[in-house]
Amino acid sequence: MNRNSVMVFIEQNDRRWADVSLELIGKASELATRLNVPVEAIAIGHNLKHDLAMLGHYGCDKVFYIDDKRLTHFSSIAYEKSIVTIIKKQRPQIVLFGATTTGRDVAPRVASALRCGLTADCTDLQIDDYQSKGKVWKNTLMQIRPAFGGNIIATIVSPESFPSMATIREGVMKMAEPDTTKTVQIIEEKCGLTDADFPTEVIEVVRQEKTVNLKAARIIVSAGMGVASPNALALVKQLARVLGAELGASRAAVDAGLLTKAHQVGQTGTTVRPNLYIACAISGQIQHRAGMDHSKRIIAINTDPDAPIFEIAHYGIVGDVNDVIPKMIKAYKTKS
Ligand SMILES: Cc1cc2nc3c(=O)[nH]c(=O)nc-3n(C[C@H](O)[C@H](O)[C@H](O)COP(=O)(O)OP(=O)(O)OC[C@H]3O[C@@H](n4cnc5c(N)ncnc54)[C@H](O)[C@@H]3O)c2cc1C
Repeated sequence: MNRNSVMVFIEQNDRRWADVSLELIGKASELATRLNVPVEAIAIGHNLKHDLAMLGHYGCDKVFYIDDKRLTHFSSIAYEKSIVTIIKKQRPQIVLFGATTTGRDVAPRVASALRCGLTADCTDLQIDDYQSKGKVWKNTLMQIRPAFGGNIIATIVSPESFPSMATIREGVMKMAEPDTTKTVQIIEEKCGLTDADFPTEVIEVVRQEKTVNLKAARIIVSAGMGVASPNALALVKQLARVLGAELGASRAAVDAGLLTKAHQVGQTGTTVRPNLYIACAISGQIQHRAGMDHSKRIIAINTDPDAPIFEIAHYGIVGDVNDVIPKMIKAYKTKS
């Protein structure tokens, strides 16, 4: 099998590289080191050449850049055609996409055009040998993700599909520290795009300001279903305010209307890595843990001593949030 590179599709919004793409370059570097191949990237847009150097700082060796005014905004067919052209030419072994709106649109189109497998929403990627029915595939991409409603963690392989392709959600992989001494080779590509590849035209982009920014938060105080009473929820909000924390939530709390979807942490919410995560009356099901188990410090408050959240908490408090949170607030105010 050819082992040419590990490739990352680089997404940009308003001339800013998406965090998930920079995170994926870090993971790609890890895989590429294992395979002894370079890290390559595909960047698509208009007038972005000067911004490409940054991709090198994060560990990218070579970037294939397609510049076209019509590519200023995402366009499904044109992006698919560009990516497929580059993949066919460069033949990477692995291609990674962010599991964003754009990634989820274009990655399946590319997989379908190349007739290869695609594993969505991976939580980890590794290289290992795969053996089945007496046959061994060396250095195969192990695509790891929760399956069957999160009840199992599945390792998916597509050893006979070339390239192996996966999408990964933002925040799942750790972003590498940039090294500004590192450089990237830029190769401009033309992919033969015609007006027929742009069946839609973006006339105006209207952005809604984010009011909740879980990803950037250093401290998150999260509410679970156990704070369904107005008093308990008010206490959680007060604790968040006192600590200068962002407010998170379990899906059950969101589904119950306690907080909006923007607050949801977990497999189908946001993946976070704060310095401190305080889980208030959250049971700690696998789908919630998948979004917060990389937090540096986890404090869990729960009346049930057997709640699964205690398996990953650094500090566990068995108790009622109505008793525990006022004490925490008092202790914090006294200390500070
Ligand atoms: C495909 C799929 C995707 C999912 N995605 C997500 C996701 O992204 N995020 C997510 O969170 N979930 C997700 N879920 C749902 C997940 O399986 C759980 O149902 C959910 O996380 C439970 O939320 P919870 O812990 O708040 O509620 P519960 O499981 O009801 O737990 C409430 C906890 O509060 C404790 N408690 C009750 N009262 C108090 C009190 N007064 N003081 C202290 N403790 C108290 C209880 O002991 C209990 O442990 C998903 C499920 C599926 C199938």
